[in-house]
Amino acid sequence: MAPADQTRKTQARKAQTRKAMPDDTASRLLAWYDVHHRELPWRVSPREHARGVRPDPYRIWLSEVMLQQTTVEAVKSYFRAFVEKWPDVEALAAAPTEDVMKAWAGLGYYSRARNLKACADLVAARGGRFPDTEAGLRDLPGIGAYTSAAITAIAFDRPAAVVDGNVERVVSRQFSITTPLSEAKTEIRAHVEAMVPAARPGDFAQAMMDLGATICTPRRPRCMLCPLREICSAVVSGDPENFPVRLPKADKPQRRGAAFVAMREDGAILLRKRPDKGLLGGMTEVPTTGWTARVDGATTQAAAPFPGDWRRAGTITHVFTHFALELEVFHAHIKGDAPAGHFWSHAHEISGEALPTVMKKAIEAAIPGATKKQRPH
Ligand code: SF4
Repeated sequence: MAPADQTRKTQARKAQTRKAMPDDTASRLLAWYDVHHRELPWRVSPREHARGVRPDPYRIWLSEVMLQQTTVEAVKSYFRAFVEKWPDVEALAAAPTEDVMKAWAGLGYYSRARNLKACADLVAARGGRFPDTEAGLRDLPGIGAYTSAAITAIAFDRPAAVVDGNVERVVSRQFSITTPLSEAKTEIRAHVEAMVPAARPGDFAQAMMDLGATICTPRRPRCMLCPLREICSAVVSGDPENFPVRLPKADKPQRRGAAFVAMREDGAILLRKRPDKGLLGGMTEVPTTGWTARVDGATTQAAAPFPGDWRRAGTITHVFTHFALELEVFHAHIKGDAPAGHFWSHAHEISGEALPTVMKKAIEAAIPGATKKQRPH
């Protein structure tokens, strides 16, 4: 076939695909979801839903905040621990902030934990009921456009366009959107808005998420198993992985610093609390230098905050949203009282401290196993 004919044929197929939208997408997806949905600790399954079981808005809100920048697999155990400790929003509101930060440690993006607590306080003060509209939810701390849409759809079964990274990928492929993803957000949202069904909008939102997570994956999508394959234009193009179209990423700036892991004879580790505002605000850390972008920044034991037999214990790296960090880790045995602004955390208490992942890495580099749960002696 001549190239011009091939192009015409492809365009005709794409037009046909678009014509099949949008109703078809929802019914195909819901039928697939009824059989292939993921079992998640906060989810009401389609079968339960059909029996009249309704999701608990508290659990949906909690899971959505936890999922904001973390994977489902990482969130599951944190979610279970939270609902066991704080089964409803009043219980979470009554908890000390410090305990919530400790339970959150390891999930990253710690401003989310502070907002979570502030939101629980507000909802509990208003009688313990979450608003059931996107606008009402967006007024609460830590709830933006995505999370408010997700809670509205999933917890209250109201139509809302829920667009996360998984959904962006599915829609970009389904419609072969060639605009770079950063500029295609409005177009993608319009497609989703047109697809949301009046019946079961919550299951539809979850079906889209599940499809993106399990079938329409970033690499090697499993198109043969996809309920949308007959109406997906990326399949026609032959290379779905080309979508979404992304502009090349700029390298993250590199910062450096040094971390000092001081241990007492009984195994206690010296810690301090970070300022409430800013990066990792309110979390716990071992003493460190500043994190500088200068190659000649202070990263040797000469920068130690107090004298000791500091020895190099290795280098750890950690990638934050806006920069990559490299920390030289030093280890020493220290006697006596904690310096001002610091405290000793006993070996059996370390695993319960509000230590962000970067600090756990630093401590583990100096004392392997120290951040794992240990029995009191
Ligand atoms: S057919 Fe393939 S590319 Fe299209 S939505 Fe399904 S998995 Fe994604």
